Amino acid sequence: MTEIKDFPASARAVIIGGGIVGCSTAYHLGKLSWKDIVLLERHKLTSGSTFHAAGLVGQLRTSANITQLLGYSVKLYNTLEQETGLATGWKMNGGLRLACNQDRWTEVRRQATTARSFGLEMQLLTPAEAQKLWPIMDVSDLVGAAFLPTDGQVNPSDIAQSLAKGARMQGVRICEDTTVTGIEIEDGKIKGVQTNRGRIECAIVVNCAGQWAREVGRMAGVNVPLVSVEHQYMVTEPIPGVTSGLPTLRDPDRLTYYKEEVGGLAWGGYEPNPVPWAVDGFPANFNFQTLQPDFDHFEQLMIQAIARVPALETAGVKTLLNGPESFTPDGNFILGEAPELKNFFVGAGFNAFGIASGGGAGMVLAEWVANGEPPFDVWPVDIRRFGTPHFDTSWIRRRTLEMYGKHYTIAWPNEEHHSGRPCRRSPLYDRLAKQGAVFGEKMGWERPNWFAGPGEEAKDIYSFTRPNWFAAVGREHKATREAVALFDQTSFAKFMMVGRDAEKALEWICANDVSKPPGALTYTQMLNKRGGVECDLTVCRVAQDKFYIVTGTGFVTHDFSWISRNIPEGLHASLVDVTGANAVLALMGPRARDVLAKVCSDDISNENFPFGSFRQIGVAGAPVRALRVTYVGELGWELHIPVEYAVNVYEALMAAGADFGIVNAGYRAIETLRLEKGYRAWGSDIGPDHTPLEAGLGMFVKLKKDTPFLGRAALEKQKAGKLPKQMCAFTVDDPAITLLGRETIYRDGERVGWLSSGGYGYTVGKMIGYGYVRNKAGVDKDYLLSGRFELEVATVRTPCQIHLGPLYDPKMERIKS
Ligand SMILES: Cc1cc2nc3c(=O)[nH]c(=O)nc-3n(C[C@H](O)[C@H](O)[C@H](O)COP(=O)(O)OP(=O)(O)OC[C@H]3O[C@@H](n4cnc5c(N)ncnc54)[C@H](O)[C@@H]3O)c2cc1C
Repeated sequence: MTEIKDFPASARAVIIGGGIVGCSTAYHLGKLSWKDIVLLERHKLTSGSTFHAAGLVGQLRTSANITQLLGYSVKLYNTLEQETGLATGWKMNGGLRLACNQDRWTEVRRQATTARSFGLEMQLLTPAEAQKLWPIMDVSDLVGAAFLPTDGQVNPSDIAQSLAKGARMQGVRICEDTTVTGIEIEDGKIKGVQTNRGRIECAIVVNCAGQWAREVGRMAGVNVPLVSVEHQYMVTEPIPGVTSGLPTLRDPDRLTYYKEEVGGLAWGGYEPNPVPWAVDGFPANFNFQTLQPDFDHFEQLMIQAIARVPALETAGVKTLLNGPESFTPDGNFILGEAPELKNFFVGAGFNAFGIASGGGAGMVLAEWVANGEPPFDVWPVDIRRFGTPHFDTSWIRRRTLEMYGKHYTIAWPNEEHHSGRPCRRSPLYDRLAKQGAVFGEKMGWERPNWFAGPGEEAKDIYSFTRPNWFAAVGREHKATREAVALFDQTSFAKFMMVGRDAEKALEWICANDVSKPPGALTYTQMLNKRGGVECDLTVCRVAQDKFYIVTGTGFVTHDFSWISRNIPEGLHASLVDVTGANAVLALMGPRARDVLAKVCSDDISNENFPFGSFRQIGVAGAPVRALRVTYVGELGWELHIPVEYAVNVYEALMAAGADFGIVNAGYRAIETLRLEKGYRAWGSDIGPDHTPLEAGLGMFVKLKKDTPFLGRAALEKQKAGKLPKQMCAFTVDDPAITLLGRETIYRDGERVGWLSSGGYGYTVGKMIGYGYVRNKAGVDKDYLLSGRFELEVATVRTPCQIHLGPLYDPKMERIKS
């Protein structure tokens, strides 16, 4: 290794990768006045995926905050050229999206409402109006279209260079021809990076290495679940009728997209049979390179494109570009601080929308680096959404290829994916499958969603209205409300916090009081310093120095990382993940006690075993930790069972329950039951941007106790004033309406928010939605009760009722019985 004189010996932070994401992160760290930032690019800026992108910039996603992130890109691209003097090719010529069948049209209309919810204008057009904007397309098969006027396009290399110039203007040092070969870690802390030009001492590393980010992550023991896939687009010679102001066009039913380029079209698409790349490793020196064009593979898209744009049949072809790009198992990019290593940040896996995301992703990442947290909740792209299934590259590849193939398919409500399954199975999997279970998948776990009865096909058939499982879920719901049901919730994440300071640590991290005697169970949130809800879980005090913590399946990595990172320095407390050790059966319903009493000799009376406590009991010969808690709003127990006993306990409960009408029930029933009861779901109803006070969970916060806890100051401040938003329930009487979440909330004709979740409540017999009502001047009971509310569903407004409390059992009589 040759030392080079002017090479920096140290830096405050090192960014690896000079594509759009690395350049944007450098630009934004510079803007935050960070000094001594070094960006290392192994070849030249933009030489990875960035130089060969097509350059479409769309904004709308299914999450408000990710849409906001992309909207930030647009704002930045609007002004960047002015700031740096380097042209970006940015044109805000709008984006068209076509619909060729009724289901797609429903999806597009719902997207238009989602856009409105998030503050983006999206207009619906007739086929003739769409054709006016895009004269050279055939519209004979169109049902309708939507137009987003603020979408646009850029020249990808130019925008990255412009960001790099902006970064340099802030003092960022950019070193090209510098390959990072290793990350130095000592005692779990980053000490520096090694490169072909020497070593740089630093404590913070940002991995923006595109499709190489998995390799760079490995240097630091960090898992970055992405793989490379070939992606092709064609550039044509000029075509009459293609003007420079032509909007971008997405034609999902024909799997293709289009943008104007020098009077011709750059167009490509997402084929259902994608081709993975670099399966056996990356070729050396793959810089500024593309792959051999594959005309045979592209032909399926060509047929679709010619049907839409007949001029393509005769247009001259300048090139068919085949460029590899990194894709992820859920189609979203990867952002944030790695759970495995503090101060190691990742911004990678951009699924062919890295140009559109680059501006916003760099801003979020820079703030994350500078402040230790993102500026707003970015859970859909947060690196902590992954877990153990996402370690194995072949599993990642299988799921990623499925997601690539679904890029333009209709995104159905409750849609499940099929590749790489089954991955993780509860010991009851085969038994439940034999009884008609239709499984869904979360964090690799197979989980029963619903049970098909005789004559029902055990398979999801999706719909934007009533899907085929509607009646089956209704049966499970009714059994839970009127008799008893058994739910296999083995996939729950479970941790053990141990150590003589465990109580002290949890008292700091938890918003609720967990300093109770052994046997107590506490539902609590864990807050960030803004008072936002980072975790929502149950803490059981097992012993003086031992707590058992139960949280949602999908939050295992996130919550483990949040809790362990927030144990105050010097305290004797550590966290262990025990998810795989225990199966969980939730026995829920008014007859739950009758069933449990038949297989257990312990005293499970309400007096001895009240709601909010847990006991170690014996069930059918098994040592069971029984938690008197519920997420469905009925009397019941969550039974945590060492896995090797799970089958025995299941069989005993089903046999004992036969006299009481016990049924197997699944996650879709849990969802409708919890909606009626008003239990919040983390990730949709609650999250880092919402405080417990706004979410209506103030009674679970120990503000009356004089104990410091993380987030307390923010809550006290908020409590002293008016809330800027408040979560409410809404019901709709019209049986033709389906609420799914993201519908717009109107108060007296003004847009005041959107639904965070929605679904049917079988006991109340209505569609239910939850959402925050927002008002800058503050939201209180009077404001809520004095308004006339409507919901916009698929662009149509419908009257609704607002409710400030639970729709079912508001006095908690049933769960405390
Ligand atoms: C054919 C095609 C069309 C596309 N069209 C669009 C589009 O229309 N709109 C859109 O938004 N997106 C599009 N994309 C996606 C877009 O190109 C990418 O998402 C984006 O460029 C990713 O940027 P990045 O900075 O993450 O990665 P890259 O641009 O790949 O940058 C990563 C950099 O890291 C460097 N690096 C790797 N390892 C090391 C190391 N060890 N040391 C130092 N440096 C290292 C690499 O040399 C590379 O320059 C398209 C992609 C393809 C393939």
